[in-house]
Amino acid sequence: MLGLTDRAGFTIARAPEDADAIVINTCGFIGEAKEESIDTILEMARYKSDGACKRLVVTGCLTQRYAGDLARDMPEVDHFLGSGDVDKIVGAIRGQTPRDGVSMDPAYLYDDVTPRLASLPAYTAYVKIAEGCDRPCSFCIIPKLRGGQRSRAADSIEREVRDLVARGAVEINLVAQDLTTYGKDIDGELHLATLVRRLARVEGLRWLRLHYAYPTATTDALLDVIAEEPRVAKYIDMPLQHIDDDVLKKMRRGHVGKTSRALVEKIRARIPGVTLRTTFIVGHPGETEDAFARLCDFVREAEFDRVGVFTYSNEEGTHAAKLAEELGLVGARDMERRRRALMRIQRQISRRKMKAAIGRDLEVLVEGPSEESEYLFAGRHEGQAPEIDGSVFLALADGVKPPRAGDLVRARVTGYADYDLAATVVDTIAPTRMKRAPARLPVLGA
Ligand code: SF4
Repeated sequence: MLGLTDRAGFTIARAPEDADAIVINTCGFIGEAKEESIDTILEMARYKSDGACKRLVVTGCLTQRYAGDLARDMPEVDHFLGSGDVDKIVGAIRGQTPRDGVSMDPAYLYDDVTPRLASLPAYTAYVKIAEGCDRPCSFCIIPKLRGGQRSRAADSIEREVRDLVARGAVEINLVAQDLTTYGKDIDGELHLATLVRRLARVEGLRWLRLHYAYPTATTDALLDVIAEEPRVAKYIDMPLQHIDDDVLKKMRRGHVGKTSRALVEKIRARIPGVTLRTTFIVGHPGETEDAFARLCDFVREAEFDRVGVFTYSNEEGTHAAKLAEELGLVGARDMERRRRALMRIQRQISRRKMKAAIGRDLEVLVEGPSEESEYLFAGRHEGQAPEIDGSVFLALADGVKPPRAGDLVRARVTGYADYDLAATVVDTIAPTRMKRAPARLPVLGA
């Protein structure tokens, strides 16, 4: 949307009070995201009376889900678009689309000729390789919001990656709702391993990172590519969601605890030194205290490098919401207690792993001056994905020149916290290919 508005001649305002038109791209996935989206719409609506704003456009998954309700309850909004209406954005800003412009069947898929204006510094970029999802996970509304899976052509993805790398990207994060099923909608086969092998040949790229690996679609061929290709980050982000067989069955994930355990073992055996991240949901309808205890045991035993824990969000229109009518909901306090208990277990594991890194030399991508510690700079190593994992806080060894954002440096680990490391920069591995310091566009949100 930024690229399309830029090409149409609009200037991106640095602050909402200066903007003639404000676009809010919403999330409608779970309760908290919906609240944040509504709060943001109300906050931005103020600029129609207190700022320069003449047109308020709301788009994304929340509008896709609740188009009628929002149009009725939010008279301050001038135009509503849905999650697949990206190419209508310029028309909406110009006031040339109907007020309710939400298409009911999202079919949009961008490609390498879609204009793109990066909202992140040039050294890192997300590339979406497919849209939509065909899976039946009980708790998830995404297939209804984003439609069925549509994979992009491999040629188009490669051209986009080459272009981003030519403009200074050293890290490319491949994303999709169901990444490991890439290609299945084209000819029934899984093509991610072939695509990754192809992208790993792009000169100038340092880390190709995959989000996320669905357990039943993580093939041996994919694990081999991750292990063998030096430019593919040895990092696997695999949402396992639970370990208890009964809960997994209720979640309709298509795997059982035994397969998850075997997969974790296989990943570690095939990719030495891999960083393994996973996420779990606690409080799904039918999760008993015993089932939760089994999950705690699994987290203790598997010793993941990173774990995210979400409390179940009861979303109307999902299979789990129907289950909740039969089985009842786990209370909010119990869910929160379970989330904290699981994070407590993981914090100990994480601390141990962080401590074990002391004295090691790591390749670190410098992200800029550190805002959160007394160390001078902050960056990430191969095992830390942008926005979701910790950081490496950097000091400089004597005689070492201050690095720039986008530099790859070698740093020796000197300290640790629960999820972060402290290190001293020893030398520069590769200086940034960006011409000047990155400036972030004013894109608000999480
Ligand atoms: S694979 Fe992911 S996006 Fe698809 S239904 Fe399951 S949780 Fe939702």
